[in-house]
Amino acid sequence: MNVLVLNCGSSSLKFQIIQTDLQIIEKNADKQLAKGLIERIGSQALVTLQATGKSPVKHAAPLRDHKAALDHIIKWIISEEAQIPGIQSLHDIHAIGHRVVHGAERFTNSTLIDDSVIRGIEDCIDLAPLHNPANLKGITASREVFGAGIPQAVVFDTSFHSTMPETSFLYAIPYQLYRRHKIRRYGFHGTSHRYVAYRYRQLTGKSREETNIITVHLGNGCSACAIKSGASFDTSMGLSPLEGLVMGTRCGDIDPAVLEFLSHKEGMSMNEIDTLLNKQSGLLGISGLTNDMRDLLAEAREHQDRRATLAINMFTQRVKKYIGSYLAEMNGADAIVFTGGIGENSVIVRQRICANLEWLGIEIDEQLNSEKVGGHEGEINKKDARMKVFVIPTNEELLIARDTVRCVLSAPQPK
Ligand code: AMP
Repeated sequence: MNVLVLNCGSSSLKFQIIQTDLQIIEKNADKQLAKGLIERIGSQALVTLQATGKSPVKHAAPLRDHKAALDHIIKWIISEEAQIPGIQSLHDIHAIGHRVVHGAERFTNSTLIDDSVIRGIEDCIDLAPLHNPANLKGITASREVFGAGIPQAVVFDTSFHSTMPETSFLYAIPYQLYRRHKIRRYGFHGTSHRYVAYRYRQLTGKSREETNIITVHLGNGCSACAIKSGASFDTSMGLSPLEGLVMGTRCGDIDPAVLEFLSHKEGMSMNEIDTLLNKQSGLLGISGLTNDMRDLLAEAREHQDRRATLAINMFTQRVKKYIGSYLAEMNGADAIVFTGGIGENSVIVRQRICANLEWLGIEIDEQLNSEKVGGHEGEINKKDARMKVFVIPTNEELLIARDTVRCVLSAPQPK
């Protein structure tokens, strides 16, 4: 089955075509056939398209909305120029899988799309006002373009965390506010945490029940997840993706009293404060330079920039703090797993997070750590260390493609 995976932002559309089916999943032999990204939809859009094994092609095109962007992609997919093996016409796309950020308490599994699912995603807009409308744009566009003939499924960032107990997901505010408005921790990056936990099981031969690990997704957005008996037990992001770790431009944990203080001292509206905490904080806010970890590391190394160094130190300390608290909550764990752009590539960030934790059984092997960059997967702990530390590149698109196949064939979805 060829699955088109779509991940839509407010002005962007990322896609992959993945060949997979139940037998292929069993053999772990899925194939990515093509991928691409369209940015700045709504004006002169920037288009990058790449058939697997070929060089990417880049160009600009006036694409006014997500439907125009999808039409553009499809024209390329079936073109002579792309020459994607096995794809000559639209009929060679057999299913479509969409990433949706918020599924609230309603969507605890990936599901096929119908009108009631769309209404359900719309009902979650209050909880994810930036993300869900963008995801819906992609769904609406692809229903228009492909019609009812092709099955479409949605995979939610929140559903992996639906197993969290009340003690993890409730905020200690009056309980009736949870009842009335469903104010609670939902957690995000669920597709990534779920995928790396699955890979961990494959690499170690452990069963789901034996899987007690802490997964740490460090990218532009960052989150940690305590996985107990294979299920999400706690996670650092909350009602929204703002809570928890220090991120590229998001502050993560903060005393809520700061909001009232800011509004008082700076005369800021709630809207402005929201923008400040989501877009101007984190690594960018502390360093005053950039939200990009690679550039910050270079600044710290080459110019000994004090605030770049401070931002990196705050970032790594917060991750340490979460690892420590999850180890306490879970009564210990067997492994820490790093993923995401920073987690997969930054030898130094991983080394700093794990430094001085020998007493917990965490000891990094310098050589192994330095080898795990650019998509390399495996252990980075010393041979006789009590706790394993893994680097596992995430692959959310693959998981979305696989769940789409399972939804289409009504096969059970392993968490
Ligand atoms: P993501 O959102 O998962 O694509 O991750 C983006 C983040 O990964 C950015 O902060 C990048 O600077 C960071 N990143 C990518 N490669 C490296 C690297 N080699 N060293 C440090 N950070 C990196």
